[in-house]
Amino acid sequence: MPEGRIVKALSGFYYVADQANPERIVQCRARGLFKKKGAKITPLVGDWVVFEAPNDRDGYVMEIEERTSELVRPSIANVDLAVLVFSAKEPDMSPLLLDKFLVHTEHAGIDAIIVITKADLLEEQDCSRFVAEYEKVGYRVIPTSILDRRGVEQVREELIGKLAVFAGQSGVGKSSLLNAIFPGISLQTGEISQKLGRGRHTTRHVELLPLKEGGYVADTPGFSSLDFINMTELDLAQAFRDFEQRSDECKFRGCLHITEPSCAVQAALQAGEIVEHRYKHYLQFMEELREYLRRN
Ligand code: GDP
Ligand code: ZN
Repeated sequence: MPEGRIVKALSGFYYVADQANPERIVQCRARGLFKKKGAKITPLVGDWVVFEAPNDRDGYVMEIEERTSELVRPSIANVDLAVLVFSAKEPDMSPLLLDKFLVHTEHAGIDAIIVITKADLLEEQDCSRFVAEYEKVGYRVIPTSILDRRGVEQVREELIGKLAVFAGQSGVGKSSLLNAIFPGISLQTGEISQKLGRGRHTTRHVELLPLKEGGYVADTPGFSSLDFINMTELDLAQAFRDFEQRSDECKFRGCLHITEPSCAVQAALQAGEIVEHRYKHYLQFMEELREYLRRN
């Protein structure tokens, strides 16, 4: 039976790109129930599947391959890269939102890069301080501008051969950047986030746009909220790379780096080796998580 990848899901249909010929899209229904470790699962966009296509147009999804990752809201399987987009200005950078996004991607086990758009609007030194901070945490940070095209090629190279999801507030320049990289690509991204901004309900459907160079960009408004589904206090601590690297040296295993004695993270904070706002955001998210756990 042929294998393929679900590139779109809509009204009970799954659109599967044939692996042998990705331009061939077969409209499939799901056949029966899929189970993994006893739990029922439904096919997701991004899933690699085995399908059956008795004729050229309609078929059935028969099997779902094991997922490498699963993102919720938007629901996408097997994302290889999250591109977290922030503008240098208009709107201003939000380290709080960035740290939230990073918790989200770390918890989902998805590699992330940070892209700064509109770098032309910022003084060089202001930009480089921020870049250095997050590179020290352990992320790749790429300042870009569609005016002078700095960073554009570097982002393109990051995307090739991967399934990438873009996340960022509306107006940060996601569509502009994607258009600079792939002229002619058309996304619903901007439009939908604007509608959401006006408080309207929009049915979100996720679609993967194939890149000529290989790989896909998910056309979705991207994730914008941090929810604590299936997250424990320790998960949250571990979602901070800069803390996690040091946790082996904490006295207690499972240290949350808050009130515990002989804590390597608190020591590093005192020594100025951990960016202060990261730690502040961590405490804030921990409050939110505890509140969430009390209510659920
Ligand atoms: P999206 O909502 O994230 O898709 O944002 P858009 O791509 O629609 O861009 C929002 C605004 O930012 C538009 O007016 C763009 O012209 C502007 N913009 C995007 N990229 C840049 C850039 O690199 N430099 C400057 N100065 N403006 C940009
Ligand atoms: Zn600790």
